[in-house]
Amino acid sequence: MKSMTPCAAKNWDRIKLRLGYECAEPGCNCTENLQLDHKNPLTKKFDVKSRLSCKWVNLIDEVDKCQFLCEKHHDKKTRNEDWEVIQYKRKECIWLDFSYNPLLDEHQVHFTLDIHKKTGKKLYKILCKISEDQNCSFNDAVEKLMDMTFNEDNLSKLKRAKRGEKNEFSHLFNGGKK
Ligand SMILES: [Zn+2]
Repeated sequence: MKSMTPCAAKNWDRIKLRLGYECAEPGCNCTENLQLDHKNPLTKKFDVKSRLSCKWVNLIDEVDKCQFLCEKHHDKKTRNEDWEVIQYKRKECIWLDFSYNPLLDEHQVHFTLDIHKKTGKKLYKILCKISEDQNCSFNDAVEKLMDMTFNEDNLSKLKRAKRGEKNEFSHLFNGGKK
């Protein structure tokens, strides 16, 4: 760990005391190398850890939006959250194109990602990480990610869409292809 100024170290201790230095994931109880995490990333104004030298009074509101998580659970949460943000913005960076191949009697989905857009780039990185972690191809990672994020309602839409009902998919993906 990098050495902290006395002021930063004091604030760090205050944060530990205030939030309780234990991973917030139920059942985890880890108390080592914990990381500060914004419970709701959309409320984040700044990264507390990088401003530990500020006056406590200027940190406290931001600290109260946070919790401690161990590395494993922080990583897991960040990945899911990133995906939520991407879902919110996906119409800007993802296009799905649906076609029917009569020779194979198959419905095919073509997945296009715009990595020149910030969210597209972020998603690309997540997909690379998944394919690396799970030792699978990029396409398999796309499928895994979809499995991970579709809730029951969306899954049933996906099934209908697989049967060739395009409207279900365009509804799901805010307009489908561009
Ligand atoms: Zn944990």
